[in-house]
Amino acid sequence: MEKQRTLVLIKPDGVIRNLVGKIIMRFEDAGLKIIGMKMVWVDDEFAKKHYREDIAKKHGERVRKDLIKYIKEGPVVAMILEGVDAIKVTRKIVGSTYPNESAPGTIRGDFAHISRDYANANEISVRNLIHASANQEDAEIEIPLWFKEEELHSYKTIHDIICFEEKD
Ligand code: GDP
Ligand code: MG
Repeated sequence: MEKQRTLVLIKPDGVIRNLVGKIIMRFEDAGLKIIGMKMVWVDDEFAKKHYREDIAKKHGERVRKDLIKYIKEGPVVAMILEGVDAIKVTRKIVGSTYPNESAPGTIRGDFAHISRDYANANEISVRNLIHASANQEDAEIEIPLWFKEEELHSYKTIHDIICFEEKD
């Protein structure tokens, strides 16, 4: 079984609320490896490439439009995490989409509480701090969109040495 890579974005609300350090700590504490990281303020064209047409199929045109506006509100911190089952593990640490339902102990559950109904009734975004690739297919589209191969680094963390390497 191969290790996986996944894209994580700390959305503008996470940056503006000074939560970058606390959020990154959650992933590092679980042993996920940061293999690429940068701060980016995206433009409209890039935002539309990230939130593709399929998001409108899932949630409607208005939600896509609001998401594009939300992600352009300020800089985001983008990172690629690598690890065993990294896509699912990252989403577990992030928590479910709507913060009022996200479990305590997850990033969304601990640092936000807005609901889908409130956001939709008031025509605002569900500010839930994080984007994380949903599955392998999305990760394969999102990783090269955000990072060039030369921006990703190969090195060993202590988890590689003590958890993943077979000892004699
Ligand atoms: P995620 O993978 O958990 O981020 O969720 P989705 O990919 O389904 O949706 C992308 C983002 O759209 C979510 O993170 C929310 O910020 C936002 N979103 C999802 N559903 C709704 C909704 O019903 N209303 C609004 N306003 N935003 C939503
Ligand atoms: Mg998603």
